[in-house]
Amino acid sequence: MTGAAPEGAPPLLSMRGIVKRFDGRVVLDGAGLDLAAGEVHALLGENGAGKSTLMNVLTGVYRADAGDLRLGGQRLQMRGPRDAIAAGIGMVHQHFRLVPRFTVAENLVLAAAGRAGIRNRSTAARRLEEVATGLGFAVDPDAEVAGLSVAERQRVEVCKVLALGARIVVLDEPTAVLADAEAASLLAAVRRMADDGRSVILITHRLRDVAGHSDRVTVMRGGATVAANLPARDATTAELARWMVGDAGVSPTPRRVDPSGPVRLAIRGLRVPGEGGGVGLEGIDLAVRGGEILGVAGVGGNGQQPLVDVLTGLAPATGGVVELDGCAVVTASVAQRRDLGLRVIPASRMASGLVGALGAAANLALTRVRGGDFGHFWLDRRRMREFSEATIASHAIHGAGADRPVRLLSGGNAQKLLLARELAPGAAVVVAHSPTRGLDIQACGLVHGALRRAADAGAACLLISEDIEEILALSSRILVMSRGRIAGELPGGSPASRIGALMLGHA
Ligand code: ADP
Ligand code: MG
Repeated sequence: MTGAAPEGAPPLLSMRGIVKRFDGRVVLDGAGLDLAAGEVHALLGENGAGKSTLMNVLTGVYRADAGDLRLGGQRLQMRGPRDAIAAGIGMVHQHFRLVPRFTVAENLVLAAAGRAGIRNRSTAARRLEEVATGLGFAVDPDAEVAGLSVAERQRVEVCKVLALGARIVVLDEPTAVLADAEAASLLAAVRRMADDGRSVILITHRLRDVAGHSDRVTVMRGGATVAANLPARDATTAELARWMVGDAGVSPTPRRVDPSGPVRLAIRGLRVPGEGGGVGLEGIDLAVRGGEILGVAGVGGNGQQPLVDVLTGLAPATGGVVELDGCAVVTASVAQRRDLGLRVIPASRMASGLVGALGAAANLALTRVRGGDFGHFWLDRRRMREFSEATIASHAIHGAGADRPVRLLSGGNAQKLLLARELAPGAAVVVAHSPTRGLDIQACGLVHGALRRAADAGAACLLISEDIEEILALSSRILVMSRGRIAGELPGGSPASRIGALMLGHA
């Protein structure tokens, strides 16, 4: 690892004692960050900790109510985003700021507004290609943004910021929207930026983005910086988790479960080979009673996806037993499991939960057609439409329409639609995998409420999540998964540090 500033040298950038209020509500209070030249600095914190707000202060989007901001020792007065660009500070926001109908090069021309020597499409295209090559990205300057995937748009945003001359680059939760392989390639590009002498602030709430991908870590909680400049190499997951959630704040009263209630999901000796060198399952045993939320914590990639795939019937097991309400289902089809009341909130809601090109009516009916809810010999489209309109209204699914493709929905609203379908009455066993990934704090609250209500109605819920706070907020009992096995079991409300220790195999 390179980059950490020599002892005693002033940081390239320092933010101290930043206070920011919105409508009288204090959102940042005592927030700060030091950045050294050439380092990757992770800014870690749970959803709502104030990370984006602090970086919006740095980039001139918001003006701080108090605090000190210095670049190279000089006090900086930010009047707006233009000042930030002029100071060589650029940010890739969580919600990209690209005009879909423009090409990549046209977007750069627009953003440059005559700066950085970018005056027309050809200078923009040349600059983009230079920057992209340096990062190891393939970017087509003539491609229309509307046709690009999320990962491609993100690469365009990163190149745009660098082409505008940023020496300090802020990336706001860049890995939250990416699949694992895409995240790895982005993190490799981040390291290249630092090797080229740029300084990167990598906002994340994922502990795995810290180890191996950043030099130092600053942790925010509740609008304040609670730990600054921890060397990433030495910081343990347990320590970081403790800073993120704070041991004091993590003892929500665990759900009370009737210990004599029926076991609705039972798994014994479940084995799956690892695919393509990945982790499989090496003998998983667990049981979930009705009314219970069993949390499965763990760093991603330790067998969570194979577990979900095998439970839902998307992948075969090589050994072991899965029972839904006492029925052995390890060789049953997806539809047979559904008939037994298995419901699934998958980690990638668009890839395996919803069909993006179809409207809400079809998506809500997808899993109910077999049951004859909408007619036995032909589909009663009017009933489907009425049902979807009622659901959209009762679940406040903004932007949804019976025929409007659901891929146009925001993440939170797409998840509401999925919850409305999967957690409708009749759910016996719910498997929820990272159900709040990429959602804002309000949508997270809705998802958590829906899972609690499903459990209250008697469903057995298996919550698989990398988010320790989410696990603690919902679970009656907690298992920790590591390298395809259950590394340990803890009661609900256990300290985050104990979960973290098991995640790392240190307990
Ligand atoms: P993070 O990026 O760490 O998830 P944010 O900085 O987005 O957190 O949000 C911190 C808090 O500030 C949240 O409670 C959020 O609701 C609030 N907040 C953020 N932006 C605004 C705004 N423009 N107006 C009012 N409240 C806001
Ligand atoms: Mg944020």
